[in-house]
Amino acid sequence: MEKVMNKTVLLALLATLTSAYATEDFGGVKFHTSVEKHQVESLKVDLKYLYQTPIQNTDKDFLTIGEVAVGDGPNMHNWLLNRVKYIVGEGFKLSTNNIVTAPGKFPNTPMADKPDSKSNPKKDDENPQIVTIMTNLGGGLYLFGKEQKTYIGIKFDNEKVFAKSPRTGILQVGEGLFLKQFLVNKDPNSAANSIFRLATLFHEARHSDGNSKHTGFPHMKCPVGHKMAGSFACETSGNGSYSIGALSERHLIQNCKTCTSTEKTALSAGVADSFFRIIDEPKQYKLASIQGQVDRYASIIQSYESMKTLKSSANEQKQYNSEIEKLKETIKFLKSQNNFKMASAPKRVFLDPKPEGDFRPVTLIESKKAMDSSLK
Ligand SMILES: [Zn+2]
Repeated sequence: MEKVMNKTVLLALLATLTSAYATEDFGGVKFHTSVEKHQVESLKVDLKYLYQTPIQNTDKDFLTIGEVAVGDGPNMHNWLLNRVKYIVGEGFKLSTNNIVTAPGKFPNTPMADKPDSKSNPKKDDENPQIVTIMTNLGGGLYLFGKEQKTYIGIKFDNEKVFAKSPRTGILQVGEGLFLKQFLVNKDPNSAANSIFRLATLFHEARHSDGNSKHTGFPHMKCPVGHKMAGSFACETSGNGSYSIGALSERHLIQNCKTCTSTEKTALSAGVADSFFRIIDEPKQYKLASIQGQVDRYASIIQSYESMKTLKSSANEQKQYNSEIEKLKETIKFLKSQNNFKMASAPKRVFLDPKPEGDFRPVTLIESKKAMDSSLK
């Protein structure tokens, strides 16, 4: 009797614990318990909006460049679900407590180009101007695993999720996704705000594609003169994340019935911003002015050097050194532009989106079934 009672108590306790750590699943996308409740609710609103909103104007570029079969809700949801399956919260931190490993098998393709960490001593998150909106964690885990020849995954509440391919689709919410200053209007769950977040999901989803050197469609450093100069927030291909994000947004704006014209204008500015991140690198420079710029930056370095000697605080020294480093990088970049002088005008490259690794595609029937059961 006592034993039974104890067991019952234990079962009741387990049930409580299980419900406290329950992963939410909506339309096939799983939300880790670290995602704030109101954020899960908003993202569910977004997915529902994507799935149910009637499409009357199809953006042809979105279909062609994104290789989306049909521009309707079920097909867009399917496209996303093949690239985004797990979402963890902003507070989720990779640690030995939640990283899991297993023997891995990887394709014998060249490793992806890595951003040169030496030339970029400052990380984006140390730059107050840069706000992370979302991150494709799975792509990073896959590439790290490929380097180590080991599958690396995370404990996703009660499930072990290994990044056997960037298509495993593990995203992390960033501080910018729900930041008030980024909202198109006050209601976080309005159609306009859903479109902003959906475009972010499409952008991140593209980071689950690509192979060999361009696995994950990595960003590249924005060039001098760009408003994001020095940050890894640009790309040179014509079908990367900024393209897909912008085109999905343009497609959804055209079909938004409840968006006001002010909201459409605000969203279109986001589209323009994404297009601005796609650069024809060498073309952007007026070669004649390069020497002039180099000279100007060199003189700024000189004045920093002399100010540095007048300042004694370690923190100020550090700041000057960091500024000097940045300027030296800029000069190095400008000088390298001279080598492009005789090169012909670049053609925009369309990279092969075929994904790497071990994954199982989600069929349209499966994704529809997942969403329809969530909507019941
Ligand atoms: Zn990106």
